[in-house]
Amino acid sequence: MRRIAILNQKGGVGKTTTTVNLAAALAAAGRRTLVLDLDPQAHATLHLGVTPSRSGPSMYEVLTQNTPIAEVRREITADLHLCGSHIDLAAAEVELIGTVGREVILRDQLDADPEPYDFVIMDCPPSLGILTINALCAAREVFIPLQAHFLALHGLSKLLETIHLVAKRVNRDLKVGGVVLCLYDSGTKLGGEVVEDLESYFDGRRHASAPWADAKLFHTRIRRNIRLAECPSFGQSIFQYAANSRGAEDYASLAAEVLGQAPATIWRDDKTTAAAGSAADHGETLQVDPQTADHAAASIEPAA
Ligand code: ADP
Ligand code: MG
Repeated sequence: MRRIAILNQKGGVGKTTTTVNLAAALAAAGRRTLVLDLDPQAHATLHLGVTPSRSGPSMYEVLTQNTPIAEVRREITADLHLCGSHIDLAAAEVELIGTVGREVILRDQLDADPEPYDFVIMDCPPSLGILTINALCAAREVFIPLQAHFLALHGLSKLLETIHLVAKRVNRDLKVGGVVLCLYDSGTKLGGEVVEDLESYFDGRRHASAPWADAKLFHTRIRRNIRLAECPSFGQSIFQYAANSRGAEDYASLAAEVLGQAPATIWRDDKTTAAAGSAADHGETLQVDPQTADHAAASIEPAA
């Protein structure tokens, strides 16, 4: 069983979209897959067509009432199951204060579950609180979705520090599996620059004992695709909603990579194909030519 936490403490980077559509692609490839929605906003639950409600147990009960996963999961398709979330889960952060071993409740629940899943995919909330720590203690792998904009790496050090602490103190098996570029605009200079920054960021921190020693940047890029933004409101994965879209193509390719197969597309992130707009986005218009700057500095009169 592979247990994967989809994590980035930033919101809006593609965690939920990746959780749901990667899980759906894996299930479509015949892998028994369980999605755990650990975000009180319950977006993954809604995306899979389930209305969060108090009438049935959710991840809140799994974490605070010791309710077994078997009583919470429901079948989305034959090979895709979900343990849903509910806004009540937000209270778990506070309710679990004072509970001994609160970091490993989810790990113990998954260990006790008899169902032989091939994959457990956890959608994390946009924070590094106790819900995320539970995911990190239960997972073996972390996938980090990133949006390729110029602040993409901002916050990554904090995220890696948290992963490092959990790996050191509680979960020695924890590894960063890789980074998935989401909401990707192909053919822009910016995309290529973010990829380069990311590679040098990891290379500069790659020591053998770090959980990210073998982290890779997935070859698959999840392109910006309107169908991916539309399908949650229909309670469907991209494969149900628009099977022929670029979004479906990209998530099928990501699933293939996760399964160790060749991705459908090999991207060349071209730094030289700058679209006019992307250069401006990156703040290039604000850069100052050093010669002009020197000239300007020389013209400043020394104070008397
Ligand atoms: P997170 O879970 O990190 O907050 P989401 O997966 O919910 O991020 O994505 C944020 C928003 O962007 C959502 O409205 C989602 O539908 C949309 N979105 C995510 N990925 C894509 C994409 N590749 N193309 C277009 N819209 C996307
Ligand atoms: Mg989300």
